[in-house]
Amino acid sequence: MKNRKRIYEGKAKLLYEGPEPGTLVQHFKDDATAFNNKKHEIIEGKGVLNNRISEFIFTRLNQFGIPTHFIRALNMREQLIREVNIIPIEVVVRNIAAGSICKRLGLKEGTELPRSIVEFFYKSDKLGDPMICEEHITAFGWATPQEIDDIMSLSLRINDLVGGLFIAVGMRLVDFKLEFGRLYKDDGMHIVLADEISPDTCRIWNFGNDEKMDKDRFREELGGLADAYREVATRLGVFAGDKADVRGPQLVR
Ligand code: UDP
Repeated sequence: MKNRKRIYEGKAKLLYEGPEPGTLVQHFKDDATAFNNKKHEIIEGKGVLNNRISEFIFTRLNQFGIPTHFIRALNMREQLIREVNIIPIEVVVRNIAAGSICKRLGLKEGTELPRSIVEFFYKSDKLGDPMICEEHITAFGWATPQEIDDIMSLSLRINDLVGGLFIAVGMRLVDFKLEFGRLYKDDGMHIVLADEISPDTCRIWNFGNDEKMDKDRFREELGGLADAYREVATRLGVFAGDKADVRGPQLVR
């Protein structure tokens, strides 16, 4: 696999060409970035944790009938995905006020929103991912009205399903970011969930004390990022499917 072709390098992930046409390998790095790349650090083990958490959530979403790009796990840092045509929009779903909505609308962090809110941002590092609305998306041809409808309904279903996975193990899904792509099949084009869902792209608070278990630990210099991500993985049962201890027979005293 040494000489495989690198297709794309992002802030926290790499994409390599896959073993078959129409497939890619998504590789999770240990790089942590925030504030449009102004803050950067390597956090050992983060890539492995994000890969395993995202793989777990995408597997569940596939089982629940949500179309995604995820095919299967490959190794600790990599997953096999379908190559899709990425729609250049970041979709943020919010349940509780945190981050940019607090600054924009003067809300206190932690305020329960009257209902889940879906926002759109244009994917552009150069412009700092500006917030946009449906008018921009259709006028500039980034997606059609029908595609926006599909994206909205998928995003809200994903919010219910992923929120449910977290609440079952004592964590609140405050907000998260999704990306979608177009997948071309024999029967036409389908909108599918792409990218990742991990503590890098979600805000997750511990139920009861609202302790932050996501990338805000890095953004706000709270420390303990890898420990928090490991706790999220453990609670979700991400490691439960791993092979039993393979160290061989142990001496029983
Ligand atoms: N988010 C992300 N990538 C981005 C911007 C936001 O994954 O480029 C996630 C972020 O982790 C949070 C949600 O989207 O869970 C909402 O982020 P927000 O708009 O509040 O912006 P931020 O406070 O991260 O600047």
